[in-house]
Amino acid sequence: MGFYKEHYDVVIIGGSLAGMSAALQLQSKGVSSILVLEKGNFPGGQVAGYTRNGFDAEVVPPKPIFWGTEKEPSAIGRFFHDMGLNVDLRPFSERCRVVLPDFDIDVTLHAGYERAAREINAAVPGTYDGVIGLMNLCRQVYDSMAALSVNWPGKVQLMLKHPDFVKTAGYSAAEIIATFHLPQKAIDILSARWVYMGYALDTTPFTEYALWMAEYFAENRFCGEPLAGLALKMQKKAEANGAQVEFCQEAEKILVKNGSVFGVRTAHGDEIHCDYVISTTYPDKVFTQMVEPLSEVPQTAVKSVNSQKLSAAPISVVMMIDGTPEENGVRNYFTFFSDSLEEDDVEQPLSDTEMEHILADSEAPPADMPAKGCPTNYNCISAVCLNYANPKAVPDGYTRLSLTALAPVTAFQNIADESYPDIKRHLADGLIAAYINTSGVDFRPWIVEIEITTPVTISRRIGTWKGGIYGHVPAMEHHAAVRLWTKGEEQFIKGLAFTGIYGASCDDAGMQIPGGMEAAGYVLNDLERKKDTVNSTQKPETANSQEKTAVTNSTKDKKETSSAQEKATTNSKQRKEATQNGKQN
Ligand SMILES: Cc1cc2nc3c(=O)[nH]c(=O)nc-3n(C[C@H](O)[C@H](O)[C@H](O)COP(=O)(O)OP(=O)(O)OC[C@H]3O[C@@H](n4cnc5c(N)ncnc54)[C@H](O)[C@@H]3O)c2cc1C
Repeated sequence: MGFYKEHYDVVIIGGSLAGMSAALQLQSKGVSSILVLEKGNFPGGQVAGYTRNGFDAEVVPPKPIFWGTEKEPSAIGRFFHDMGLNVDLRPFSERCRVVLPDFDIDVTLHAGYERAAREINAAVPGTYDGVIGLMNLCRQVYDSMAALSVNWPGKVQLMLKHPDFVKTAGYSAAEIIATFHLPQKAIDILSARWVYMGYALDTTPFTEYALWMAEYFAENRFCGEPLAGLALKMQKKAEANGAQVEFCQEAEKILVKNGSVFGVRTAHGDEIHCDYVISTTYPDKVFTQMVEPLSEVPQTAVKSVNSQKLSAAPISVVMMIDGTPEENGVRNYFTFFSDSLEEDDVEQPLSDTEMEHILADSEAPPADMPAKGCPTNYNCISAVCLNYANPKAVPDGYTRLSLTALAPVTAFQNIADESYPDIKRHLADGLIAAYINTSGVDFRPWIVEIEITTPVTISRRIGTWKGGIYGHVPAMEHHAAVRLWTKGEEQFIKGLAFTGIYGASCDDAGMQIPGGMEAAGYVLNDLERKKDTVNSTQKPETANSQEKTAVTNSTKDKKETSSAQEKATTNSKQRKEATQNGKQN
């Protein structure tokens, strides 16, 4: 057992971007006794790649991390700066090309709200005012959410300072977009990402739509180093600051007594004691499998996760292709392409039986198979070509292309082991054929390396719940603003915090780093509260003594960085009234 210390302040489960961010954030506020347990052999989680036959393969998220610009760095940009971590960030303006042949749409959009609005206007004349109005509204809501994540004011201040947020919070994305009277074609262009995700705009809260759109079309920089390298850099920094980071160590159980966390047990049987656990693992898994004993999990916690629908899981093909992108017919960094935007297709995923039937068809699809033929429940496919964002990351004369379609998390649950390899090949064939059908160049003979990822891969490698990668589907009843309000109240087990999608102020993509920071914020606030309680029971002369720890000082100084507990004590009646008023307005 000498491998571990007797006790840690915080054990972090998962050495991913979120886990490392949490460790660094805690350290920056004076918490030094931290253990990070990672079940894999490298940091980074989903973004950790690997090298095969000399070629790097890693997930390149189509929505890059939001660093902001040099002049106006985002919260993440400032966090890395404050942590003393230099990142190779470079300007990059292309956002996405949207190709919808059946709708006569082929438009490439760039960063900057005005520029994107002009580009949509060029494709659909007369829409500039509406699109820029929508984008500016998204930005207002985004800024309000950022401010509210620091301090949730009283009802009057909320209405005065955040009128756009209040007015739109009770409505779906479809309802707010409709107020701009845009032609359907412009709405389709603006909807591609949501169709890809399988989210219907009439059930997606406008607040969550706004968070994503405002960030996606803001000026940003692209990370010129692999995200796995970034995670490694964060790990080294956390270790230099005193954290213990251990690989190939799976936390199997989270130990709880009388409603409070007191440690974890690894798959090797080591019992490690701590005051707090930060989990990058979904609450779905923690509350149903990891907490020991399960009787310590409140029914409300199980109900809470059960009431939310899991978002999609990816079927991805990552390829290294001989020849330049131009030679291979790949013209953009990120392309959404689809042959349909029917809402029915989005809202009614294929049943398991239908999915099984399609997957069981082992014949390779024809080259002209439309995107719809790809056996997922969604029509939209995303293609990311790393060469355009970061040419240095790809060997000269090669193309790095990844294609992803999203499937329901249930898609693979009935697949027999023996048919799985064939199904993977079939899926990859379908994705590639659909892309070639759009791009017009058959690069198949020139593929030199290929990796196919399914929800099964993700689930096995990372342990994400059912292979999902985006947490839960945004829904009005689990509104981001409500999550922000009630975050403190939703600490079902004392001392246990979650990162990722459960970070309330984050949308469903790009949540890794802010999610880690928020989970650290929960721990820091709780430490502060405990300290305050101790101080208030001490005599006045000792309350201000020199013995105050670094934790107390630094967390007090930076109280505004995360006020989840403060928000938790805000009168919930007041909050509900505010939303209702927003809806009435
Ligand atoms: C194809 C694809 C496309 C994507 N596109 C985007 C995009 O455009 N934009 C975007 O922002 N995101 C995108 N994502 C999702 C993004 O990669 C994830 O959101 C992100 O990696 C989640 O980061 P995380 O730090 O929260 O945890 P993860 O990356 O999920 O890592 C969790 C870590 O915890 C470890 N772990 C799990 N259980 C245990 C345990 N019991 N004990 C010890 N360790 C454990 C895992 O090994 C892993 O290292 C995409 C993902 C994929 C696969």
